[in-house]
Amino acid sequence: MPRLDGGTVDEHLRLAALQSYDILDTPREEAFDRVVRLVRNIFDVPIAFISMIAADRQWTKACIGLPDNNLDRKVTFCRLVLQSGEPVVIPDLSEDDRLKDNPFVTGPAHMRFYAGIPLRTLEGFTLGTLCAIDNKPRSFTPTNLEVLTDLAAIVMHELELRRTAEVDVLTKVLTRRAFNGQAKQVLALMDRQERPSSIIMLDIDRFKSINDTYGHATGDRVLSEVAGICQAQIRSTDLIGRLGGEEFAILLPGSEGKDALRIAEKIRKAIAAARIDVGNVALSATSSFGIATVETEAKDLNALLGLADAGLYMAKSRGRNCVVNLQAEMKMDQQKQA
Ligand code: GH3
Ligand code: MG
Ligand code: MG
Repeated sequence: MPRLDGGTVDEHLRLAALQSYDILDTPREEAFDRVVRLVRNIFDVPIAFISMIAADRQWTKACIGLPDNNLDRKVTFCRLVLQSGEPVVIPDLSEDDRLKDNPFVTGPAHMRFYAGIPLRTLEGFTLGTLCAIDNKPRSFTPTNLEVLTDLAAIVMHELELRRTAEVDVLTKVLTRRAFNGQAKQVLALMDRQERPSSIIMLDIDRFKSINDTYGHATGDRVLSEVAGICQAQIRSTDLIGRLGGEEFAILLPGSEGKDALRIAEKIRKAIAAARIDVGNVALSATSSFGIATVETEAKDLNALLGLADAGLYMAKSRGRNCVVNLQAEMKMDQQKQA
């Protein structure tokens, strides 16, 4: 097999495969964090991570002991795993001709030992690695290698599950991929019937501070409550998906902009009024909204989402906890000018 080390046709295919998992720059997830904790505890290493190797950077999905989760691909050890497509174990990095001058070996990070297992797709593409790194030289037995390889298989299994999942485990709404797929079909159907459709996009306000103040588990609880509130306010024929993090999209087939505005306002008020019990405190949260309708220039889903997202961005800049429909505002401006 040709070397998959950049610039080749194979590298383009590998990057396309990586893209299809939709994993780059996604938030931390417990399933992956758990595996790196296992690597750390089983092998007693200070550094463990799951890397994804993108075109020019290495990004970590889960990580213990590394300060930064984006690295220039050229300086990483994991590129050796990518080049060979095989596990790489280096008992003493300072004695390895390829890596002894690497800044992570010569510099203050003082890395001495590396073991990296490829995360390989069924088609044989290496997406990234599962690694263990130590600050002192050490040996790695065949059993050690077997255990790390088993853990890498668990990571790959999680990646596959995410790729095929229709429903987001935490919030019980559609995953981004499923939402996009189903929304495209519904939009095409509505288009054939010459009926409008609207999109509502919402993003929880200052969610990071909820996580920072009350912890990630509480943040998760708020996320699932907000999704539940949205779901309770829409019809069974509407689609709701989690686009990522704390951002959701709702497709309202057959609805015009003014219906979407009414529903978005209903959801906005319901979220703001909810008190979410977490231990001995009741939390409240607000969300910002953007709306777009398919009556106008945006015929495809991405354009529609883009318009709704622009409205959402505007809602944030206007102080949050509000709904913005840029199409309606533009129409009003035009009418005023006429
Ligand atoms: P804004 O009002 O501008 O939207 O501010 P924000 O703090 O909500 O926005 P920002 O994008 O800075 O932060 C979103 C946070 O959501 C950061 C990320 O760690 C967190 N997050 C994303 N996904 C999850 C998740 O599944 N669970 C938890 N608890 N937090 C998540
Ligand atoms: Mg937010
Ligand atoms: Mg956000």
